[in-house]
Amino acid sequence: MTNPNDKENKDDTHNGKVGVYICHCGGNISDHVDVDKVRDAAEDLSCVKVARTNMFMCSDPGQNMIIEDLENGEVDRVVVASCAPSLHETTFRSAVERAGANPFVYEHANIREQVSWVHHGDPATDKASTLVAAAAAKAENLEPLHPVRVDAFRHATVIGAGIAGMKTAVDIARQGIDVALVEKTTQPGGRLNTLHTLAPDGEKAGDVVDAFYEEIQNSERITVYPNTQVNDVKGYVGNFTLTLATDGENGRADTTVDTGAIVMATGSQSYTPFNGEYAYGEHPQVITLPELIQTLAENSGDENTLTVNGKKIRNMVMIHCVGSRRIPGIHETKEDANLNEYCSRTCCSAVLHAGNFIRETFPGTSIFDMYRDIRTYGRGQEELYNRAAENRVVFMRFEADAPPRVESSDTGNFPLSVTVSDGLTFNEEMTVPADLVVLATGVEPTDISGIAGMLKLPRGNDGFLNEVHPKLRPVELPVTGVFLAGTCQAPMDSSEACNTAGAAAAKVSALLGKGYIELDPFVAHVDEEKCTGTGACVDACLVDDALELVETEVAGQTVKKARVTAALCQGCGACVAVCPENAIEVNGWTLKQYEAMVDAIAAA
Ligand SMILES: Cc1cc2nc3c(=O)[nH]c(=O)nc-3n(C[C@H](O)[C@H](O)[C@H](O)COP(=O)(O)OP(=O)(O)OC[C@H]3O[C@@H](n4cnc5c(N)ncnc54)[C@H](O)[C@@H]3O)c2cc1C
Repeated sequence: MTNPNDKENKDDTHNGKVGVYICHCGGNISDHVDVDKVRDAAEDLSCVKVARTNMFMCSDPGQNMIIEDLENGEVDRVVVASCAPSLHETTFRSAVERAGANPFVYEHANIREQVSWVHHGDPATDKASTLVAAAAAKAENLEPLHPVRVDAFRHATVIGAGIAGMKTAVDIARQGIDVALVEKTTQPGGRLNTLHTLAPDGEKAGDVVDAFYEEIQNSERITVYPNTQVNDVKGYVGNFTLTLATDGENGRADTTVDTGAIVMATGSQSYTPFNGEYAYGEHPQVITLPELIQTLAENSGDENTLTVNGKKIRNMVMIHCVGSRRIPGIHETKEDANLNEYCSRTCCSAVLHAGNFIRETFPGTSIFDMYRDIRTYGRGQEELYNRAAENRVVFMRFEADAPPRVESSDTGNFPLSVTVSDGLTFNEEMTVPADLVVLATGVEPTDISGIAGMLKLPRGNDGFLNEVHPKLRPVELPVTGVFLAGTCQAPMDSSEACNTAGAAAAKVSALLGKGYIELDPFVAHVDEEKCTGTGACVDACLVDDALELVETEVAGQTVKKARVTAALCQGCGACVAVCPENAIEVNGWTLKQYEAMVDAIAAA
């Protein structure tokens, strides 16, 4: 076999103007990979004109090396060997573009995550050289590409009108983009409609809802659809068509909305304890934290002692982590076999916030706080714990496998007793007589199987929606043009929900602001000359409507040819693998490019 990488085997198809730029990544790469050796090996490749190294290729001096070589005409294709492409591929494509070249004549070799972080010594250097050779071979065969341009409606739809959905709608509308705010209940506000004051700073939940709702009502750009759910979704980024089903007094009415982007803000729901869990459902004086909060909103606070269900509460026990942080093998599952293993994040603060309110408003009510761990993370939250201690809330700590025992009691006029092995007093067993037991129930995802199924949105094992990447793309879903905000993603407090809402709104505004969208060009492309209309590609396609067979006239005859809807194509290549005529390719990943890479790897 002749080695396509050897200079002497260079033929006409090899223009030999690939520039290879190898990054030390401060030592992240060069501590394990001999980058000079990798450069020397690259220099010997027939397709490579120059090979250089730099301490940080992403730095200005690193990028300027590429720009100068392109501007001088030294190179016309570029390979950077550095960290994962998800981190800096865009950086280097932009550098190529700034040099006046097409940004898609660029190929990335990952020699950090795939090499220096997992191999050492000679094997690391050899593997890095091989990856660089493959990237250079592909780069030589790259063609200039152009982004797929799609017209977009300057309109977004936000599903769910809790605080996250309201904030998203308001922020998008402020950018001059129309918004449909879809809410399945009668009114916006979500969970906040059921809360009293908010931790950590005591702001009234109702005031926050009112502030957002006033702006929504005054905005000409926002249309609220109460009692409404999305019944059907068609289309793709920039061009979705939604069917909204609204329940009214006289039945259901359907509305069609053309929209450019969708934001999921469907929130979460409270965990409901199963019958008998800490005597819940068996004893009326065992209630959940949301039920206590509603009672607090109704209590006037003009008495010395809190009253719940018509009874004065002298001793109240609060139990943390009910329906959260469950451990398989220790905790019982509910009928649906689900076990919420995650921390619900807001309950500790909410318990302490309610506890402080009670101790400061009803000093005749004593509080015993039984916890596994106190997790009051975030600004102003630790103070809630300190304040509770100053308010003489009595803390007791239990282990996951030894939860407090709640029992009916007739001692001393107290209807309940709670027994706990207290880790703060060397596991001494204590029994607290109580008038009320409050279960700090966690949160669970809302049932969004309908809309999530229609949009094919991924959810984690915990049932919450999965973003593309928690750091790099934290409010984007893998379906282009669909974003997420608030607690449909994970448990979070209302400030965090607003942060994600602001981020989602910024993404939507950037996407729809111009009235058109430019998508990556790495999509399937049909060679109509070769296509014989077998339909194998259509059958293999994983995305509804991305590929279809259309009738066309060829030499006076009606024939069928495959046609790609570029905005829907995910560029997965499933169609390429099945076409008997090799008539379909993915731009930027053509068979010729793959062959060049495989040859380079085999020859290395
Ligand atoms: C007991 C408790 C106490 C809390 N205390 C505090 C506190 O003191 N301070 C604080 O900052 N945070 C607190 N939180 C957290 C706070 O409630 C949440 O952060 C906040 O409500 C999240 O807002 P959201 O918009 O994401 O979700 P939600 O408030 O749940 O709103 C989601 C909305 O979407 C709607 N919806 C759902 N599915 C659909 C659908 N398919 N179609 C249309 N509409 C749909 C729902 O009806 C709802 O209106 C507490 C939470 C709990 C459970």
